[in-house]
Amino acid sequence: MRTEQNQVEYTATPPTIVRSRALAAIGAAIAIVVFILDTITPKEIALAVLYVAVVLLSAKFLQKRGVVLASLGLMALTGLSYMLSEHDVSPGIALSNGLLTLVAIGITAFLAVQSLSREMVLREQAGLLDLTHDTVFVRDMNDVISYWNRGAEELYGWKRGEAVGKITHQLMRTIFPMPLEQIMAKLLRNGRWEGELVHTKKDGTQATVASRWSVQRDGRGRPVAIMETNNDITERKQAENALRLSEAYLVEAQRLSLTGSFSWKSSGGEFFWSEESSRILGYDRTTKPSLQLLMQRVHPADIDRVRRVIDRASREGKDWELEHRFQMPDDSVKFVKVVARAGADESGKVEFVGAIMDVSAAKQAEQELRQAQADLVHITRVTTLGELTASIAHEVNQPIAAVATNAAAGLGWLEAEPPDLDKVRATLGYIVQDAERAGDVMHRIRALAKKAPLRLARVDVNEAVLEVIALTRSELVRHGVSLQTQLATGLPLIEGDRIQLQQVILNLILNAVEAMSSIDNGTREVRITSEREASNAVLVTVRDFGPGLDPRSVDRLFEAFYTTKPSGLGMGLAICRSIIQAHGGRLWATGNEPRGAVFQFTLPLERGKTVPAEHAGGASVQERNGSHSWRPPIPMP
Ligand code: ADP
Repeated sequence: MRTEQNQVEYTATPPTIVRSRALAAIGAAIAIVVFILDTITPKEIALAVLYVAVVLLSAKFLQKRGVVLASLGLMALTGLSYMLSEHDVSPGIALSNGLLTLVAIGITAFLAVQSLSREMVLREQAGLLDLTHDTVFVRDMNDVISYWNRGAEELYGWKRGEAVGKITHQLMRTIFPMPLEQIMAKLLRNGRWEGELVHTKKDGTQATVASRWSVQRDGRGRPVAIMETNNDITERKQAENALRLSEAYLVEAQRLSLTGSFSWKSSGGEFFWSEESSRILGYDRTTKPSLQLLMQRVHPADIDRVRRVIDRASREGKDWELEHRFQMPDDSVKFVKVVARAGADESGKVEFVGAIMDVSAAKQAEQELRQAQADLVHITRVTTLGELTASIAHEVNQPIAAVATNAAAGLGWLEAEPPDLDKVRATLGYIVQDAERAGDVMHRIRALAKKAPLRLARVDVNEAVLEVIALTRSELVRHGVSLQTQLATGLPLIEGDRIQLQQVILNLILNAVEAMSSIDNGTREVRITSEREASNAVLVTVRDFGPGLDPRSVDRLFEAFYTTKPSGLGMGLAICRSIIQAHGGRLWATGNEPRGAVFQFTLPLERGKTVPAEHAGGASVQERNGSHSWRPPIPMP
């Protein structure tokens, strides 16, 4: 359709029609004039030969058929004029002139038709160039455009008439990839050149083209014209640039996030890793990636685990992820997290695409945080012990004083006549008991004060409670507080750190005692109970009859630095909760009836199985409502 329209545009545009009509009129006028003159002038003058001019003229605006018909018409006119004329003088000459004219018209018509045929072939061939989407144009050795195809019109916006006769590189403001002289030298040497050019179109926008030039030479081998074929690759170029840019962004993002990517076809073993992956693995960028090279970096202690995961992944073709360490050639250790998603390659085989994240810095920060938190837990424990100094001194003094008294009594029984050895034996027995009592107290204090690493063991909760009570006895007496216990018998052992759990119980007892020391009348009593909870846990309750909890701040009790005491730190309950949560349990507070507070905590029998989801998070200090809230910090393996 388009071609037909174009044909119309090229062969029947108004100027062409006007020109054809004018030529037809001139031709007709010449024919008439020649006919009249030929008829009235003597036949010795071969005027009719001038019909040849009309034949040549008709070839300018008529097709082959038209030229033949016009020539026949002219021949007929020659014949008619011969018949109308008088041939008195020399009929032989007149006849031969007439025949000569007919031959001249015939030969001229034949040549004109032949030329028209050739021209038509050429025009058709040139028309073919209009069918291609590529731009094709021809320029002479002075760069003046002599041919400009339809593709060139469409790409650049200039019509053939606008482009022909212009200097190519001025018209299109060509940007060359190298100096034009070099291009021309290469073109003349090889007859061809190809490369990428940037042209400016009629509308001012730029187009990047893949350009192919070939040189046309004359019979003597001299270059006469250059044909340039251009293919618009602007979009491809833009896509390439966008791709290059996004690749650059990706590389940068991987570098900043310390995350490399990889792909692995488990069936064929083909492995690819990104630049950042090779950096994390400590290989040169040029090293050919392979699973074997990756495995060489896996820490010896993790290698079996990693192998198991990889073997299973290649067997089952499912997503996988794992955390492990790399041991680098300089013996340094990197912590990495690897995540891989299973997909299918072009041939439908399993292909894993994944990321290797270097989490060493985060791991180190985590370890440092854990250490700082463990230090804080220890400091608060020692601080709590500091509050017990007077009681502890009393607890130790008592048996020591008893030792002294019994020793003096024993000496008395020895010095008696006769020495009463039975009494001496009995007093020595008391001395041993008291010394052991003092030793026990010292032992417990040392255990609590010691900065020991976390130790998980089977813990008898009742025993831990009783040991703490023994340490606080004097403190209770000092504040006139009585203590009641109701500890369930036959409680199963729980798994935990005995010292940290005792720190919790001690804190709760001292808080209760302190709360009650502010009330003047009423019961001053602390009740501690232990029982088995239905959900397979042990439940410990510390109940007091103090002023109780302010409902407005009950939610804040466990926040770090929340205190209502003038010299309080506000870390006690926060740390207690973190310890219990790290054991997989829960610590909470409610009001007591008729007054006072109840603090309760659970400890699951099997850690990890009965942990409520909201308490299973990691360790961190979080900003919440502008205050710091303490989250589980106790490192538990
Ligand atoms: P501190 O003892 O240093 O204040 P805690 O974290 O142990 O820090 O306690 C925080 C706050 O909780 C206390 O200041 C107090 O207001 C409140 N609290 C703790 N235990 C009790 C209790 N048994 N009765 C009433 N209030 C209590």
